[in-house]
Order: sequence, then C-alpha cells, then structure tokens
Amino acid sequence: MANSYRIFKVFGISVELHITFILFFMLLVFIAFLNSFSAGVRSFIFLFILFFIVLLHELCHSIVAIRYEFKVNSITLYPIGGAANVEIKENPKAEFFISFAGPLFNFVFAWICFILLFLLTPDYGAYLNYDKIFGVDFDLSLLGVLGLLVWVNFILGSFNLFVPAFPMDGGRVLRAVLANYMDYVKATKIASNIGKISFVFMGIIGFMIGNIFLILIAVLLFFAADSESRLVEVKAYLKGSKAGELSLKLNEIDGNLIVKDVSLMRDSFLQNRKIFPVVLNNTIIGVLNLDYLNPEDSEKYVKDVARKNFAVVNSEADLSEIFEYFLSNDLVIVAKNNMVSGYLTQDAIKNYVDYLSKFKKR
Ligand code: ZN
Repeated sequence: MANSYRIFKVFGISVELHITFILFFMLLVFIAFLNSFSAGVRSFIFLFILFFIVLLHELCHSIVAIRYEFKVNSITLYPIGGAANVEIKENPKAEFFISFAGPLFNFVFAWICFILLFLLTPDYGAYLNYDKIFGVDFDLSLLGVLGLLVWVNFILGSFNLFVPAFPMDGGRVLRAVLANYMDYVKATKIASNIGKISFVFMGIIGFMIGNIFLILIAVLLFFAADSESRLVEVKAYLKGSKAGELSLKLNEIDGNLIVKDVSLMRDSFLQNRKIFPVVLNNTIIGVLNLDYLNPEDSEKYVKDVARKNFAVVNSEADLSEIFEYFLSNDLVIVAKNNMVSGYLTQDAIKNYVDYLSKFKKR
C-alpha cells in the first residue's frame, strides 16, 4: 500500500501504518501533551490499546482468510480503523466466516475482560462507567484497563457487525448471505448501495450534531463501498478471459540505450505506446513508462530510469484472478513455458473492460 510503513510481519502478513494514521496519532498525543505531561502519556496508552485491539481484529479476519487459502498481503492501520488487504475471491461461505471472525474476536475478548473484572472486584460496575473510561482522567490501573477493554471491544464488535453496510464486516456478512440467493455481482451491488445510503445518513447525522470526525468517516466509507463494488464488477467481466488471449507484442528496449534516442522514435516507430519492457542481455529488468519521465532523464540510460513495477503471469491465468496486478504494476509479462509470450498493460486491460461492459450484458 502506498504511503504506508511496515512495522513488523506476522504469519507472513506485513503490518503497516498509513501515513495519515501516524500523523493523526501524533497530533492527538501532542494535543494531550499540551494539556499536561500525564495527559499526554495517558492518551498515548489509550490510543495504543485502541489500535492494538483494531490490529488483533484484523488479524482474526486474516487468519481465517488464510485458512480458506485466500492470499493476505498486508494489514494497514488508518485513523478510522484497520483494513486487511485480503484477495477478493468469489466464495460466500468463506467470506461469511472471514467477516464474522473480527467482531467475534471483539465479543469474546469483551466477555473475558468482563468476567475477569467481575472476579477481581465486587465494585466492577464502577470500572465500567462509560463517562469515566472515555473521559480525560480515565483509570490506567489493571481494573481500569479491563473496563476500557470491555467497552472498546463491545463498541468495535457491534459497530462492525451490526452496521449492515458494505465495506463494514456486517455488509460483507450481508453480501455473503445474499450471494446464496443471487449472482455475486448483484449481491455486492446491493450491499454496496445499502452501505452508501447508510453513510449518507451517517454524514447527515454528523452534520446535524456538528461532528466533523463522523462526517469524515462517512465520506471515506462511502467511497470505499463504491470502489469495492466496482472492482467486483470489473472482475466479473474479466472472468473467463485468459491472460494469453489479450497479450500484446511490445517492442523491447535495450537498457543500454539513451532515453532521448528512444523518445525520438516514439511516434514513428513505436506506435505511440507509452510503456515498454526494458531488457538487458535478453532478460527483462524493468519498464520504461514515458508518463514518468522527467526532462532531465533524457540524457540517462534507459536501464537507470526503468521502473521495477512489473509482474509475471502464466498465459493460462484467468484475468479476473490476476486483475490486482494491474492496480500496482505498469506492465504484466505473460509467460508460456517459461518464455515471454507477450505483455499486458493497464491501458489494454482498461480498454478491454470498457469493451466488455458495452457488449457483454450480465
Ligand atoms: Zn473487521
């Protein structure tokens, strides 16, 4: 994920902090420190606990996903919560359990903390006082933290599960259930539309009570609901098409050429394409993307300005299953029997999807 920083890796999953998360975290702690030193320390611990729970929630989704043999690339923490970057596959049953696992973890954890608190003190009610826990001078003793954990887990679990709005967990559970009765794309669309409507309401409520944070979350979730529904739609169009059917022959460029010599050829010789595989000794080492060239690059060697974002797929691979590669790579190399048989570019896929969406009625 762009603008994210890896903090560690667990079960092969890269756990990353998004830049907005780091800034948001530092800002809140900084504001608390302006108040007093102990307020700063407290808010740091409070936020740390909060986001640690969010991380565990995402890990539970991820572990179940891995059990169903879904690929989990990373978990990214944002100011509004976490997101496990799980490969989307059309498997409603798996998705039901994957989505359910996160909130389930929160409910189980909330109960464990509640039982511990109940066993440790007869005065447990005092430690569950909502106003006190989320007030400025919340209690950081063991009992105080247990009370905090009960509430944080209860709120996170409920918000994620009982808001039946895509892309929240509740929305995913809803899609999984709907997919038993209809086409997966249609189920996604319905769950996504319910999500969009609820987030519009959420935004309106935020506006009415003057809560900027709520408005911001509503806007972000609205676009998340929209983009995932589009992604599912595009993949449905691509399903059944093989990588090899769509691959192009592209002119490979020798990495030892000077950039300006290549650019001169652009219109006449290279058919106005912007993306070229760069080779050194018959091996592809990168991608020359004319859109990313700066004027000062013209005197450099092609190999020195080549971007490294390319992926290799088998010519038999289904385009719907390798679609994600096009989101982060300029070029996808199509291989047949370990030999390069052609290339796929983002533009080619985009044009193909446009074409399919016009002519292939779903
Ligand atoms: Zn979740």
